[in-house]
Amino acid sequence: MDQFERLGQLPLRDDLRGLHPYGAPQLDVPILLNVNENTFGVPADAKEAILAAVAAELEGLNRYPDREFTTLRQELAAYLGHGLNEDNLWAANGSNEVLQQILQAFGGPGRTAMGFPPTYSMYPLLASGTGTGYIAGLRDQDYSLSAASAAEQVSAAAPNIVFLCSPNNPTGTALGLEVVEAVYEAGEASRCIVIVDEAYAEFAHTGTPSALSLLEGRPRLVVSRTMSKAFALAGARLGYLAAAPEVADALRLVRLPYHLSAITQATAVAALRTSTSLLANVEAIKVQRDRIVTELTNLGLTPAPSDSNFVFFGGLENPHAVWEALLAEGVLIRDVGIPGHLRVTAGTEAETTAFLSGLRAILAS
Ligand SMILES: *Cc1c(COP(=O)(O)O)cnc(C)c1O
Repeated sequence: MDQFERLGQLPLRDDLRGLHPYGAPQLDVPILLNVNENTFGVPADAKEAILAAVAAELEGLNRYPDREFTTLRQELAAYLGHGLNEDNLWAANGSNEVLQQILQAFGGPGRTAMGFPPTYSMYPLLASGTGTGYIAGLRDQDYSLSAASAAEQVSAAAPNIVFLCSPNNPTGTALGLEVVEAVYEAGEASRCIVIVDEAYAEFAHTGTPSALSLLEGRPRLVVSRTMSKAFALAGARLGYLAAAPEVADALRLVRLPYHLSAITQATAVAALRTSTSLLANVEAIKVQRDRIVTELTNLGLTPAPSDSNFVFFGGLENPHAVWEALLAEGVLIRDVGIPGHLRVTAGTEAETTAFLSGLRAILAS
């Protein structure tokens, strides 16, 4: 009997039987372009600031941390702008935990959450973990989602929660604000919480508006962000949201006591205070992202327009074989299981060059 069969003998919840955990492969290869991390390391001045802030916490580590993480919420509000203050902010250990808390508070048994695949693969997993039904909406042939189509589908399904991912993972493309507005209105009848997951917002093309500008007067709208991508802090686990203050109050009902450690709070506050330097590589990453789109087009492939730090591209006869051949060259990208397509993270110039020349050679052979 293997471990999976032994798991089946445990008194697991029926709705979790047969499910598989989130599992982007973590392989030990030189060039990791598979999970959209910021491949530039943490800059020296940010490292020093984080180290000093964490050191200052050690003295009080016998005590529980500030349960309200007030300083962190103030720093996050200052970073986001848009007239937000600490009462509009909430944070947890990665935006995945923020999303889970939203499902705990607003979803659950007998309720539903809706997403529009292909989209972030965690949405259905977070739904199943919280006993929330998941409804898969439809996109157009080119993976775009229009305001009219999204609103019609939300009206028909009447979900309790909608996930809009902008820029969308894995396609990379940002949604227009008219989609968010239309979905919010369509969700009025079911009192639907509308989450705009802006994990990649900092990489959007200049002039791309954020759903933060729609928060005023929309108490069921939630914009989630993360320090895992642009801030190069995936290992620190800090995600956050902006919404009406009463949304944060709802999450206070489901969060674990002291869920954000003093070390996490100190790290995130120090990082936000050195955000100029932490975000300095975002422009360089955008250059590599645009370069990937141009060069893949020249290779006869079909990259989707990207406002993120990754590119989703089609036109491959056998994507898994290409994925394997790149891996053999020491370049790990992502096979998201969509026919004809792969996804690659924009890395440093050297990493991007390794990916592009590897791919060129594979396609030529
Ligand atoms: C990477 C990513 C996140 C970030 O998750 P964290 O838990 O903050 O690391 C959230 N949403 C999407 C769509 C992502 O791709």
